Amino acid sequence: MGSLSLATEVQYLKGVGPRIAKLLTRLDIWTIKDCLFYFPREYDDRRALPSINKVYSGEIVTILCTVETLKEKQVKKGMHIIEAVVTDKTGRLTATWFNQSYLYKQLFPGITLILKGKVENSLFYQTSQLQVQNTEIIRSQQEMKESTGLVIPVYGLTAGLYQTQMRAIMKSTLELGIPLIKDNMSEYITTKFNLIELKNAIKEIHLPRSVNHYKEAKQRIVFDEFIYYQLRLERQRLEHKKRARSSPLITNGTLAEQYRQSLPYTLTNAQKRVVLEIQEDIAGEHAMNRLLQGDVGSGKTDVAILTLLAAIDSKKSGVIMAPTEILAIQHYLRIRTFLEKYHIKCWILKSKMKKKEKLEAVESLRSGEPSIVIGTHALLQEYVSYSKCGVIVIDEQHRFGVMQRIVLQDKGSHPHCLFMTATPIPRTFMLTCFGDLDKSTIDELPPGRIPAQTTLVPDHYIGQVYQSCVQRLRNGEQMYIVYPLVEESEKLDLKSAMEGFETVKSSFSEFKVGLIHGRMKSEEKQDVMEKFKESSIHILVSTTVIEVGIDVPNATIMVIHHAERFGLSQLHQLRGRIGRGGQNSACYLMSNSKTETAKQRLKAMVETHDGFKIAEYDLKIRGPGDILGTKQSGLPDFYLADLVQDEKILITAKKVAQYILEKDPLLEKSEHQSLKEEMLMYQDSVIGQHLN
Ligand code: ADP
Ligand code: MG
Repeated sequence: MGSLSLATEVQYLKGVGPRIAKLLTRLDIWTIKDCLFYFPREYDDRRALPSINKVYSGEIVTILCTVETLKEKQVKKGMHIIEAVVTDKTGRLTATWFNQSYLYKQLFPGITLILKGKVENSLFYQTSQLQVQNTEIIRSQQEMKESTGLVIPVYGLTAGLYQTQMRAIMKSTLELGIPLIKDNMSEYITTKFNLIELKNAIKEIHLPRSVNHYKEAKQRIVFDEFIYYQLRLERQRLEHKKRARSSPLITNGTLAEQYRQSLPYTLTNAQKRVVLEIQEDIAGEHAMNRLLQGDVGSGKTDVAILTLLAAIDSKKSGVIMAPTEILAIQHYLRIRTFLEKYHIKCWILKSKMKKKEKLEAVESLRSGEPSIVIGTHALLQEYVSYSKCGVIVIDEQHRFGVMQRIVLQDKGSHPHCLFMTATPIPRTFMLTCFGDLDKSTIDELPPGRIPAQTTLVPDHYIGQVYQSCVQRLRNGEQMYIVYPLVEESEKLDLKSAMEGFETVKSSFSEFKVGLIHGRMKSEEKQDVMEKFKESSIHILVSTTVIEVGIDVPNATIMVIHHAERFGLSQLHQLRGRIGRGGQNSACYLMSNSKTETAKQRLKAMVETHDGFKIAEYDLKIRGPGDILGTKQSGLPDFYLADLVQDEKILITAKKVAQYILEKDPLLEKSEHQSLKEEMLMYQDSVIGQHLN
């Protein structure tokens, strides 16, 4: 073996050899470095092990004991039991092992064991019984010293590898490997940001001396998980600023002005402010890279349209991507209605459409003639290119992944980019997913909006709820009735929405009822939405396809069935569909759920209308994966880091990333080479995850 490095394969370590090395690869451990970063699954506190007379039924305990007698039994086919009486100075227990026949050969009276298991009192035994979950054989004074009196790491294993073996491997790896660890953070940074050295962190995470030592170690390791991601995002932001020379757009063109005048209202101050922020960007030489936040109903669409029209006014094209077909169609109709008068083309691009129409849109984009293309994910397809496009807008960005955003962005030659989302993006997500973007916020709703009166109602009152809506419907107001969508069984949902549709029709015989769901043909959906919009349908029964973006100002009532099945942010988005026209509106959350969490969550919906608070609350209860879906939100899978609990460290990581790049924007300095390498490796693994 050559000189030892972190890349040295584990099989060259003392006591490993080819057989064990092969087992370790199943845990994805190939090199010394992999081994050092293979952290314990949990810890076993053995600083003070209980004596046998101090263990009680029901407890899970770890004891140090000696085998007194031993026998094995074959109860029935496929069920092997080892039964041993074990003792210490204070008493005796009967320990039992199920189906671990291989262990029998290794045990004998007099052998010392550390056993972890559950204590049970049984009528059949005079002594208490210990159902063993974990066995360690102590063969020497040395092993005794290493296995008791401290907090012991417990590693995830694979068949054929024992805990004591793994610990021994770790021990020798730590001895050899720790001195080889290079800290990518300078002493200046570790001191300034109060981080312990990586070397010490790795050592303490494997063999923590105390709870505090463990906490510090974990902090440093979580920091390292974040720092590469943050560096990548910060780099992206700087690169974009530096390299992305874009053509400046005309911001006071005729079309944009005409559009403003065509609106039946004036923009709110907040809308005006963000329009100015955007104009300043797109009138400049650098491509805009901006996130526009604004709660549901704050009027982001007008801001998007004004930005797109700046492209047309500058004789370029504009693209807007939306997460659902229904929303894309809504945008399409709105933009087309306006542009028609000026004979400017407007295209829609979605997955289900005639090839000929698709090609027309693609060709128009390619030719560079001023036009606006509105689409769904279909815009991301390989054959679509945006080389002559001036502006790209992504609506409801949180429904797309970070990488999807970058794919779309990379298709153009530095177009100005605007990413829009409703406020419910907790700060941690902002940092992780959108850390590379500039930000604008619409922090004001159009005047006269009254928050929807929200009521939590048990299912069997549905009749009364429907009854109470009749008067409003007679006044000409409109209503949504929503059924949940469970991804695993789209069919089942459809069934509940369809059955619901029948019930609703019979409950509201004097009104027109429509049905919309994801499985319908595109034209059918469009037809239903148009009818709802022009009030020839009064009640729309729907699955969650209407969750984002849909804008029918005359709709004032929403009934959500099985409300407990929705995420809170989802409910907030849904509720945002009503009361857009300044009227009183009512939202009924139907639920029979009895669990405390479900009740609390729904109560939160009744009490607050602040999308931001709602998102934070949801995040606390359900965790990030559930709200956005890790894959969907484009977040990498962190190993130790927890986006909610470790927010402070994430912020530190961001600061450190900025600090480093300020001094060395391209990471060219020799002291940053290993940092850069690590960052690139990290990036590949994240992109890899999301391509799967
Ligand atoms: P979101 O930010 O959720 O995308 P929309 O752009 O769909 O919101 O706007 C919500 C509703 O508010 C629409 O019906 C829109 O026409 C209306 N609206 C937007 N801006 C204003 C304004 N300044 N004054 C009054 N109504 C407005
Ligand atoms: Mg919208």
